[in-house]
Amino acid sequence: MNSLELRKKYLSFFKERKHAIIPGSSLIPEHDPTVLFTTAGMHPLVPFLLGEKHAQGKRLANVQKCIRTDDIEEVGDSWHLTFFEMLGNWSLDDYWKKEAIEWSFEFLTSKEWLAIPLEKLSVTIFAGDNNVPRDKESAKIWQELGVSKERIYYLPKKDNWWGPASQIGPCGPCTEMFYDTGKKECSSNCKPGCGCGKYSEIWNDVFMEYNKTEEGKYLPLEQKNVDTGMGVERTIAVLNGFDNVFETELFEPIIKEIKALSQREDQKALRVIADHIKAACFILSENIEPSNVEKGYILRRLIRRSVRYAKQIGIEDIFCHKIAKAVIEIYKDVYPELKKNQDFIFEQFIREEEKFKKTLEKGLEELERIVDWNDEILKAKDLIKSKGKIEAVDIEKHLSNLAKKLFFAYQSYGFPLELSFEEIERRLMRELFFKEKIRKYFNEETKKHQELSRKGGEQKFKGGLADHSEQTTRYHTATHLLLAALREVLGDHVYQKGSNITAERLRFDFSHIAKLTEEELKRVENLVNQKIKQDLEVNCEEMPLDQAKKQRAMGVFGEKYGDRVKVYSIGDSSDSLGQVFSKEICAGPHVKRTLELGKFKITKEESSGAGIRRIRAILE
Ligand code: ATP
Ligand code: MG
Repeated sequence: MNSLELRKKYLSFFKERKHAIIPGSSLIPEHDPTVLFTTAGMHPLVPFLLGEKHAQGKRLANVQKCIRTDDIEEVGDSWHLTFFEMLGNWSLDDYWKKEAIEWSFEFLTSKEWLAIPLEKLSVTIFAGDNNVPRDKESAKIWQELGVSKERIYYLPKKDNWWGPASQIGPCGPCTEMFYDTGKKECSSNCKPGCGCGKYSEIWNDVFMEYNKTEEGKYLPLEQKNVDTGMGVERTIAVLNGFDNVFETELFEPIIKEIKALSQREDQKALRVIADHIKAACFILSENIEPSNVEKGYILRRLIRRSVRYAKQIGIEDIFCHKIAKAVIEIYKDVYPELKKNQDFIFEQFIREEEKFKKTLEKGLEELERIVDWNDEILKAKDLIKSKGKIEAVDIEKHLSNLAKKLFFAYQSYGFPLELSFEEIERRLMRELFFKEKIRKYFNEETKKHQELSRKGGEQKFKGGLADHSEQTTRYHTATHLLLAALREVLGDHVYQKGSNITAERLRFDFSHIAKLTEEELKRVENLVNQKIKQDLEVNCEEMPLDQAKKQRAMGVFGEKYGDRVKVYSIGDSSDSLGQVFSKEICAGPHVKRTLELGKFKITKEESSGAGIRRIRAILE
């Protein structure tokens, strides 16, 4: 069975069981600014799982494309991808565990449907803990269907529990279905959920039946929902007897293309490149461009990671667009947005790879400047000669200094760590036999760096900002001026719907029905420039969220703020009226005075969905 048949079968199975087949959503979450990409089929349905009525009824099913950047480090193993498709069926206050589990069972095992032999399947069930009892109901249903006790595993909340999405709200146990590949157990503790790859989780049925309260209690929910998710790639793989997703028809042509360009074979590199370029294609097909913030940053990371892995297998030339062709070919009928945007996709890949190449070249030059290789080699030779005579501590000091220099190059010029290390091996290792030592120091620096960037990453998702360079800071402030100007020119119905900033430009989405006229655009632009020229002060004040709202500070609708927020005001504090031009809840950073912005220029105005306009602007 191929993926086309699987999608079709799944949808017709649930259609026969009175489910409305709804379209999959975009990879870009529409109502949820807290997550960068759609991560599961249930994600776009959250409002309905929380009680809103769905126009198509109480039984829904679909196919949803998903991106999970959290799984990026796993890619290369047998079953994890950053881009995958999820089949899903939902009950909104309708059927419950019995129907859901019986249908999962029937679809998986019936001759008419997937015909997976029963002995290949195992299921997991929520084991229960101090707060919530074991999900005996689900266990009983599986047993009555013929799943033997030995194939039912009880796992804790960590594995078999979903939600709540935030601190409080609907949540509940899940029951997961695993396929046993028949591989040898990795240890005596190997069971479904083990990371070794013997068992593949193909389907998950979530039962939303509790409401978690602020006091940490789990109370029965009034509206109970079922939410299920089945991975297309994993299911296709096991149905065809593969023990990994990369041999399926959704990857095989991509891998073949990469192999044709490469000099060496390396399974992990092939898998990572195939996965990342595919994910990048789908992100690009949503018109996202590589950048240093948010979605664009993830995209950049996927592409650059592919290029680095490609280097490992001897691909030196610009190549991503060639692989992208194979991706588009596989999916062109199912996801027409790929073909439709193919020129943009190719162009962006080429541009990003060229940019990365330049960064690398520049990085190498800088490395050359920072590290005097000839000197290093001489010192290394000296050390070797005098080995036994000089204190070991000198050697250590020297090596640790060198590792630090490499890191300086990395941090200052974005030169990838791995390449720094490659460079040092290439130049020094032949001379030096302290290979292990250098690696040790280097790894220590890597750790320190990861620690720092992890902390930075947590910051990022609090503030939503990744790049605090001078240029992007200016664009952040300009965005505040733009929103205030739009509200003054167009009216108070204007709210922020989206914002994206790179070092080169700002992009701002806002609520407004009609296309802006030339005159309106001019007025907005002039107003922003007028405020810049007035050299207004930008003030930041921290206060409780309530107070910020009372002061009518603008916020982003639907955004989840903490109890205390920063409020940025732009205005002349010495103004006798105390007139403030802009007041927004924002994590910052911003410039001190508006004159720092230079000249503001709108470069484009266009639609960005129903009732949403988009402006692009630059600072000159
Ligand atoms: P795992 O534990 O294997 O990471 P999960 O518990 O995170 O899976 P769910 O969130 O329950 O997975 O997603 C539902 C289904 O989507 C899974 O049963 C699986 O078939 C598929 N799936 C989830 N994550 C991935 C991934 N990274 N790559 C491919 N398929 C996935
Ligand atoms: Mg997972």
